[in-house]
Amino acid sequence: MKRQIVAFHLDPENDCVADMDCGHGQHVRHNPPFENRAWTTSEEGRKSKLGVMLNCVRCEELELPQNLIPYKKTAVFDADSVPTALTLSHSTKAGVWAKIHLLEGGLSYSIAQPLGKTFVLDSAHAGIVIPEVAHSVQPVPLSVFTSSFTTKGRRSHACVLPSTGCLTFFQTLTSIVRIGLFVA
Ligand SMILES: [Zn+2]
Repeated sequence: MKRQIVAFHLDPENDCVADMDCGHGQHVRHNPPFENRAWTTSEEGRKSKLGVMLNCVRCEELELPQNLIPYKKTAVFDADSVPTALTLSHSTKAGVWAKIHLLEGGLSYSIAQPLGKTFVLDSAHAGIVIPEVAHSVQPVPLSVFTSSFTTKGRRSHACVLPSTGCLTFFQTLTSIVRIGLFVA
């Protein structure tokens, strides 16, 4: 899955690591003649690579990045109270990861391309939501679940609905907060 380089840092061995917008890091070593990346050795060279896309295998493996900060949790929903928006295709913003926790029953969790996978979640198997990748959920009767959102930076809201736009969904979220279905 292609992710954008947003920064670089050095690991304890002084090897260069590219920080990507998904929250994962990836080594970009200069180790000739095996790995030739002379650009990693200068500030100017690294700057020239900001914005470049790298393939992130960790995203494809649904691996949560380290040091995520929890910042929002939905209310507990069941098959009757689940917001329609969650059953339609939607996605989180860049860098925002979420976890779907099943308290009772089961839930079908589909992740769109480029992953293209469907999982059946239960209380022993949480769903990992990858930033910016469309997904949807279909709870079965008697299922009870909640979602928690984490990120490395500050976010004003969690989800973007491509069909209705960011603002519309934020307004929806705001009204839901007002009647107490979401907790910050
Ligand atoms: Zn990643």
